[in-house]
Amino acid sequence: MIKNYLLTPGPTPIPPRVLETMARPIIHHRTPEFQKIIQEVEEDLKYVYQTKNKVLIFAASGTGAMEGSVINLLSPGDKAIVVRGGKFGERFGEICKAYGIEFTAIDVEWGKAVDPEIIRNILEEDERRTTNHERRIKAVYTTLCETSTGVATDIEAVGKVLKNYEAALVVDAISGLAAMPIKTDEWGVDVCVSGSQKGLMIPPGLAFVSVSPKAWALIEKSTLPKYYFDFKAYKKALTKIDTPFTPAVNLVIALREALKIIKEESMDVIFDRHKKMAFSVRSAVKAMGLELFSPDAYSDGVTAVKVPQGIDGEKLVKTMRDKYGVGIAGGQDKVKGKIFRIATMGYITPSDLIVCMATLEAVLLDMGYKFQLGSGVRALEETLK
Ligand SMILES: *Cc1c(COP(=O)(O)O)cnc(C)c1O
Repeated sequence: MIKNYLLTPGPTPIPPRVLETMARPIIHHRTPEFQKIIQEVEEDLKYVYQTKNKVLIFAASGTGAMEGSVINLLSPGDKAIVVRGGKFGERFGEICKAYGIEFTAIDVEWGKAVDPEIIRNILEEDERRTTNHERRIKAVYTTLCETSTGVATDIEAVGKVLKNYEAALVVDAISGLAAMPIKTDEWGVDVCVSGSQKGLMIPPGLAFVSVSPKAWALIEKSTLPKYYFDFKAYKKALTKIDTPFTPAVNLVIALREALKIIKEESMDVIFDRHKKMAFSVRSAVKAMGLELFSPDAYSDGVTAVKVPQGIDGEKLVKTMRDKYGVGIAGGQDKVKGKIFRIATMGYITPSDLIVCMATLEAVLLDMGYKFQLGSGVRALEETLK
């Protein structure tokens, strides 16, 4: 018999209070009962996003909202900047490519964060060379927490840079929202993209975007093809407390409960808790002689660790899962087998981390890695207090 623990950066575990709400009989979405839920969820999402802007909800995984933030803001011939420092930054580039959008890629070494000055230089150069305002760079696509590398981007600093330019700031906060600070309005984030299965503690299937007045102005002019993800349709429906298509009713109901839990705890307490847990994980792996993959720009939601020499990284992750039921994530693409990732987001708690670290030690010991047994758990427990 195996008991399962999930410490992956999405999907994340779901609190029982949230799970229970999903077992209730379905209700119809065009009813006063569901309208009340939409209103509540909209208000609480604004609290989590720290925004006064509308937050739109889609029945999709996070990538749907990423695609939406490209096809709604841009038109054929428009230019954009895409920060690519991992799999998810690259995804924005792939979406732009799919729609024929020309973009300047900022390729950041995996494990490092983008220097906002590079963004400033590109925008400045574009402003100098492009006298026609309509032809200037329209949007900058960035990632708050690059889940594939464990890197956090200083979005506040990027926002400061963009304040002096016409381009809209789009942030993929799918794994960052509710795990680390993102102040949508204060930092000047025009479109903040998120998803349900990470810090928000509900199953996959919902995606969100907040949209600023500056972004709505771009949306009004956008002529790229769109239908299901047409932000204007969602805005129009939301004005009437409605949805343009059938919403994922039970997921929205689950979201209401998860947002209640979040409000009860409060954003500041949530951020402190995540920060502390991520610090403890870093302390623990370092005590075991392991190296962080992104030592200079780590996220509070997920920690990426280098697989030590001579150890099979894929086997490590597989053994933890299959023998002990402890799910962590391996590396993707070019860091496959070279890193493993431990999430500290959403309903992942210190007790999960203790189980995870003890299991990591047990498996590494078994695989022949030389370290002081107990050193990771010890450092974890000393810093978790
Ligand atoms: C999980 C994740 C995504 C992808 O979301 P899906 O729900 O799988 O479409 C995109 N960006 C980041 C940063 C993520 O962590």
